Amino acid sequence: MPDRHASTATRPLAPAPESAGVPAGAPAATQRVQVLLPLPLTGPYDYLAPPELSVTPGSVVVVPLAQRELVGVVWDAPADSAAAAAKPVPLAKLRPILESLPVPPLTPVARRFLAWVADYTLAAPGAVLRMALSSPSALEEPKPVTLYQRCDLPPSGGVPQDRRLTPARRRVLAVLADGPARKLADLAAAAGVGTSVVKGLVAAGAVEAVEVVAEPRFPPPDPEAAGPTLSDRQAEAARALRARVGEAACGEAFSVTLLDGVTGSGKTEVYFEAIAEAVVGGRQALVLLPEIALSAQWLERFERRFGVAPALWHSDLTSAQRRATWRAVALGHAPVVVGARSALFLPYPDLGVIVVDEEHESAFKQEDGVTYHARDMAVVRAQLGGIPAVLVSATPSLETLNNVKTGRYQELHLPERHGDAALPAIGLIDLRQDRPPKLEGLGPGWLSAPLRAAMAETLAAGEQVLLFLNRRGYAPLTLCRACGYRLQCPNCTAWLVEHRLAGRLQCHHCGFASRLPGACPGCGAEGSLTACGPGVERLAEEARVLFPTARQALMTSDTLTGPDSAAELVRAVQAREIDLLIGTQIVAKGHHFPYLTLVGVVDADLGLYGGDLRAAERTYQLLHQVAGRAGRAEHPGRVLLQTAEPDHPVMQALAASATQAEGRDRFFEAEAAARESAGLPPFGRLAALVLSGPDARQLDEVCRALARAAPQVAGVTVLGPAPAPLAVLRGRHRRRFLVKAPRGFRLQALLRAWLEQVKLPNAVRLQVDIDPYSFL
Ligand code: ADP
Ligand code: ZN
Repeated sequence: MPDRHASTATRPLAPAPESAGVPAGAPAATQRVQVLLPLPLTGPYDYLAPPELSVTPGSVVVVPLAQRELVGVVWDAPADSAAAAAKPVPLAKLRPILESLPVPPLTPVARRFLAWVADYTLAAPGAVLRMALSSPSALEEPKPVTLYQRCDLPPSGGVPQDRRLTPARRRVLAVLADGPARKLADLAAAAGVGTSVVKGLVAAGAVEAVEVVAEPRFPPPDPEAAGPTLSDRQAEAARALRARVGEAACGEAFSVTLLDGVTGSGKTEVYFEAIAEAVVGGRQALVLLPEIALSAQWLERFERRFGVAPALWHSDLTSAQRRATWRAVALGHAPVVVGARSALFLPYPDLGVIVVDEEHESAFKQEDGVTYHARDMAVVRAQLGGIPAVLVSATPSLETLNNVKTGRYQELHLPERHGDAALPAIGLIDLRQDRPPKLEGLGPGWLSAPLRAAMAETLAAGEQVLLFLNRRGYAPLTLCRACGYRLQCPNCTAWLVEHRLAGRLQCHHCGFASRLPGACPGCGAEGSLTACGPGVERLAEEARVLFPTARQALMTSDTLTGPDSAAELVRAVQAREIDLLIGTQIVAKGHHFPYLTLVGVVDADLGLYGGDLRAAERTYQLLHQVAGRAGRAEHPGRVLLQTAEPDHPVMQALAASATQAEGRDRFFEAEAAARESAGLPPFGRLAALVLSGPDARQLDEVCRALARAAPQVAGVTVLGPAPAPLAVLRGRHRRRFLVKAPRGFRLQALLRAWLEQVKLPNAVRLQVDIDPYSFL
């Protein structure tokens, strides 16, 4: 949090940045400036800029607020803003800025971006600023460290005056001779000596200790380092991207390009060229990935291509890593940043290109706090910065495809897999005909005879199998055979999911956990609770019975606890220490397993229903991605989808697209037509309001008041209030409004005017979600 410790305020003032903040000749002491604070306020507050602290818009400063000291940013609000229209606080009442922090001011583009995001999402500007100032300690200069280096040598050749040049001392001097100054412990370790040897050399005058302030710095990637030789098509796409990045270096050159290519077509290699071009031009590159913690393979490839690791930005970083990365970015010492969505808000001084990989992924949508879609905001950031954005996917979102169709976005195609790798053949297994047989002692089975046969064949050939089921745990529902009682979360409208490996029941929404009771809580019957439906753990059990010698691994967010365990599992699969991988959507993400030749999708229909307007699109994308894991090298792959609805357009499109890209195009055209006729995104606009509170009666009262004030505007429909599908979450009741408007309608202005009319009690929270992706 950006609250400051009093102690930091006692540090000597940093040299003021060169400033245009104080107009020449103006009485400097009366300078009024606006400072945006990282708080949920409506706008910036006024402060006095003391003459000795010449600040400029974007300067990061410390100001007093009530009894606190806060870090904020000097703002330049447009003249017509609400803050400017209100009667200004008299100068005499203003408090002075205390300090200007030693970081470069936020650039005008960065400031406009923050304001834009706040305006679009209806978030407080300060809440967006808070995302940009996410590493408070990075705003201070690093503490000096003591490093040891060789003294300028006397003509005698550097022999210490006490002349005892032992082998240990010689090693220390040798290390310093061909390396930079080092910390005491590092130097001693590198020379293989104790620290006293180094101190002895200092005493002897051969080595000196120096205090330095070392700013974090990521080594520059080598853009000339040899990448793979690109195929003609790849080279053509790479050339086009490089040209766009090059144009941006010469001035305003905003563009959005969709890099659309089947899985394994080399999209990554191609956009690496765009990054190389930015690096050549001395500008920064940003790559957004949906699951940065699972990107070990991606990082390896980056290092192979560029010789160094990029700067990483995601929520698993330590605070020291965050601090170093934030500062390195701000100072222009991080040429390439790879991150999750929040990496958009880092203080880039000179961004040259943004790549959004797997642009269709819903993980780019942030659902709490400031609700924004990182892909869409990446495009906004590119536009404000006058630079190219590159959106990458094998299954682009309908939004992006529509933007290509209407000519707003350009498109580059990679229609073939690289090398000889063929696209996998996709077959449908009709579960109505091929019912999975029961298993002795285990009850119902989930693997049909044709899938079992394919697994047996693949395993016998020494190749790998992936079973995909997007359900964590052992069983999604536990019920009593005697009375029908279902085990439900006490805090949420949700069933408890049995996690047998962990020995617990768990709520996937609030984290509530308990032991599986011995008797039914409803009727008290002993041993009557049974697991309903499969989760990956139950599937693993079935597979163990059917294929007892196959070496299994589970790949879910429960078994992969961080980047290290993910990297270890990926390694084990690549080293063929695993025969059978059973996983949730985590396995769908970009992994390249050359010996994986069979993918079995256990329940292809799982995502099709549930009131989500993108259900079909998402199911298509997810299953297509999973299918893309099969046969990525010289071994041809196949995919079997178990479905009870083989005629569903999604299943038909998947089965067809194995042989032709038209399957995909036909599906998206049909889906687009359906959305267009219903006025749904991307052909219409949506916003969701979710109100929540501990007291259902009070909540309903507020909702009724809102409904009465609902806007009556032609073309705009307000649906609700209705209980949200998750009607209770973490003990809070939830109600939803959904607002539908035509494309191009200024929804934000309408919502602001509406919400201003109703005062919410403190206990009721309102979440505004523009372009919602979750309908829970
Ligand atoms: P995508 O991102 O489209 O799924 P990738 O960029 O991951 O495809 O490429 C798939 C695999 O093919 C990777 O192992 C990659 O290194 C390899 N590959 C792609 N293009 C080439 C090339 N021109 N030469 C050698 N290997 C390539
Ligand atoms: Zn819960």
